[in-house]
Amino acid sequence: MVSDITPFHFRGYDFFVKRDEQIHPHLSGNKYYKLYTLLNTPAESYQTMISYGGNQSNAMLAIAHLCQHKGWAFEYICKPLPQHLKGKPTGNLKAALNLNMQLIECSDYDAKIQSLQSNGKTLVIPQGGADPLAQAGITQLGNEITQWQTKQNIDRLNIVTPSGTGTTAFYLAQALPKCRIITTALVGDNTYLKQQMQQLGSIPSNLTLLESSKKYRFAKPYPEFLQTYEELKHAGIEFDLIYAPLMWQTLLDNMQHIQGTILYVHSGGLTGNATMLERYSS
Ligand SMILES: *Cc1c(COP(=O)(O)O)cnc(C)c1O
Repeated sequence: MVSDITPFHFRGYDFFVKRDEQIHPHLSGNKYYKLYTLLNTPAESYQTMISYGGNQSNAMLAIAHLCQHKGWAFEYICKPLPQHLKGKPTGNLKAALNLNMQLIECSDYDAKIQSLQSNGKTLVIPQGGADPLAQAGITQLGNEITQWQTKQNIDRLNIVTPSGTGTTAFYLAQALPKCRIITTALVGDNTYLKQQMQQLGSIPSNLTLLESSKKYRFAKPYPEFLQTYEELKHAGIEFDLIYAPLMWQTLLDNMQHIQGTILYVHSGGLTGNATMLERYSS
């Protein structure tokens, strides 16, 4: 399944967007490519996947879908749920539980995840799918971009995508040494993002980390994020409310430093928007 790349006009500039949000409602964006290797692994290779992280994570829902599809059990470890989610799950959590995910709430969360180990037919997938296992799938994403670039005869290509763990941006930069990969950190600052990336290897020179003009806390609602989200949607494409608004804001602040064609790789995550919109309206 190869997604479309469509032209996108926004705030007076011309972009292209790789429409990876359209791959599948539960398994979209970079999560599809990060899990690509496991998607193409024979079902009998594993019995159980274990992962951990936030209670509305996009990666959680993507892994739940993968496991349902493969017939694998899925255990997901998180910190104890806040009162409003107890007995009344919403959004990605609800969808993942409906796909038979087993949620394990741990008050000693840090110690618990430290102790996790893959063995035999049980595989531990680190938070957000930040794992060398993601490389082959992200390289596939890179190949799709190269095919389009060759067909369109584009000489100078900048590829933009927001970073959580930085896994997608890192492996994309490795896969496409002739392109410039532009990202910004959503979790922590660029110093923290660099540390995360260095766990995967040395940072490729074609990878640019743009600094956002203001500090934001991850997954919090900000009025300017909602405004950017609505403007993008009005321009024709819905993006997620957690990662995309800051990536677009930071990109637009830096347009004078960017030469050539700009391709924004949609990172998916639309299933999280309903719960975020609720937080904006409450
Ligand atoms: C997971 C995710 C990201 C971040 O991807 P990383 O590879 O962890 O940097 C960006 N956008 C969306 C919508 C995501 O779900």
